Amino acid sequence: MAFNQLAKDRPRLLIVGGGYVGFTLAQQLQTRIKESGGVVTVVDPNPYMTYLPFLPEVAAGNIEARSAIVPHRQHLKDCELIGGRVESIDHANRTVSIRGIDQGPDFDLPYDEIVIAGGSVTRTFPIEGLAENAIGLKTIEEAVSLRNWVLERIEIASLTDDEAEKRKALTFIVVGGGFAGIEAIGELEDMARTAVERNDRLKVSDLRFVLVEAMGRIMPEVTEERAEKVVADLRSRGIEVLLNTSLDSAKDQLVKLINMKDKSPAGEMYTDTLVWTAGVQASPFVKNSDLPVDERGRVRAGADLRVTGDDGPIKGAWAAGDIAAVPDLTGAGPGGFCVPNAQHAVRQAKTMAKNIMATREGKPLEDYYHENLGAVAGLGLYKGAATIRGVDFGGLPAWAAHRLYHGYAIPTIERKVRVFSEWGINMLFGRDTTGMRHVRDPRRSFKIAAGDEVDKAKARL
Ligand SMILES: Cc1cc2nc3c(=O)[nH]c(=O)nc-3n(C[C@H](O)[C@H](O)[C@H](O)COP(=O)(O)OP(=O)(O)OC[C@H]3O[C@@H](n4cnc5c(N)ncnc54)[C@H](O)[C@@H]3O)c2cc1C
Repeated sequence: MAFNQLAKDRPRLLIVGGGYVGFTLAQQLQTRIKESGGVVTVVDPNPYMTYLPFLPEVAAGNIEARSAIVPHRQHLKDCELIGGRVESIDHANRTVSIRGIDQGPDFDLPYDEIVIAGGSVTRTFPIEGLAENAIGLKTIEEAVSLRNWVLERIEIASLTDDEAEKRKALTFIVVGGGFAGIEAIGELEDMARTAVERNDRLKVSDLRFVLVEAMGRIMPEVTEERAEKVVADLRSRGIEVLLNTSLDSAKDQLVKLINMKDKSPAGEMYTDTLVWTAGVQASPFVKNSDLPVDERGRVRAGADLRVTGDDGPIKGAWAAGDIAAVPDLTGAGPGGFCVPNAQHAVRQAKTMAKNIMATREGKPLEDYYHENLGAVAGLGLYKGAATIRGVDFGGLPAWAAHRLYHGYAIPTIERKVRVFSEWGINMLFGRDTTGMRHVRDPRRSFKIAAGDEVDKAKARL
């Protein structure tokens, strides 16, 4: 079934995913391709690109959720935008199957060239209770929900006389010592500390933050020396950092840990809050395609970012970002491939834009080559860690570098202004530690008012 209102008579460059790669590429090509008589079509279930490095700051309330996303309709005006999810790709027949969001239609869409830019999803393991009880930090909704949840736990804890309940509410566990996990625990602890300081029924020492990491070190993106300093800093803030430790089970709010070296039990604790940030894997839809996929589920790409099978590049198919196995020509990447990060995603998109135009103009293609610049992390207000071109530093300078870099790197001037303004407002008036209630069930009060008996019975406003 073809969907009637979409462009039919123009050659279509179809971009699957409007995140880092898709948004940057569409920005670069939309006008040129439109002027040449073609159309750039972006399919994404979200009408925005999420600036993922800001999720920990959204979870801590330093940045408003809407400022950490970049709307497609506002900034990709020359593109054809489709709110849907690509379910499968039939490249031999140049067609994708799309599932429209919510109750939207399912339809097939023809294309001339395709760009696979669907990013990654949280990687999980079959751990008892994990799917039911944990939350990830990979979407803007998760970040918003986490903030409200943590602040609500603090309110709940401040009203109970039951010590076990209080301890459970105030125990926050983050699994995964990569960038996302470390930034998440650093920012959340900072926010929770301020919230507790404003609540005279609680003490900061009531809070318990636990970081669980399966490897013997955290943050592979920074030097080992800096990573050890970060661990020391976190511990000096009272955060428990458990290395060589993993999650054994998370059933009925009881989290059991296991020592990764000898598989012995490594403690257990009750908690309402389990945040899982232990890595990502390529978005799985690409397995429903006739494009070559490696053993880790990534689309195989050449250094020029064309999808590449055993017999060489596949005509009309491109891939980049977290979903693609792109050779790292610097030789630094694990297994010879680029690591999944934004630094690569944005630069790959720019190289791809040049190469897409070059194929049309019959010019030679460029190989993607990028030497890692380093990494910057924010760990709460005025706290950070950074390794930039081999020089590592922490504290206030690293925090400032993190803010300057990401404030500058978020696409579009309009979003940069929003982010810097919000940081400024927070510095002027202090951090906002008010949680919003029932964000996950906004119809709750209406249902109760309208006499929904089930909700009335459960109601604890
Ligand atoms: C919390 C966090 C912090 C991070 N911090 C940093 C950092 O400080 N520095 C850094 O370099 N990197 C960081 N990263 C990693 C970086 O954000 C990613 O590597 C980058 O976003 C990858 O870009 P991408 O375009 O491949 O994927 P994404 O930006 O994730 O975009 C993928 C898009 O595809 C869409 N999509 C998925 N499936 C489908 C489908 N079936 N059909 C259509 N569309 C689909 C998604 O909705 C999404 O919009 C962080 C990641 C996280 C989660």
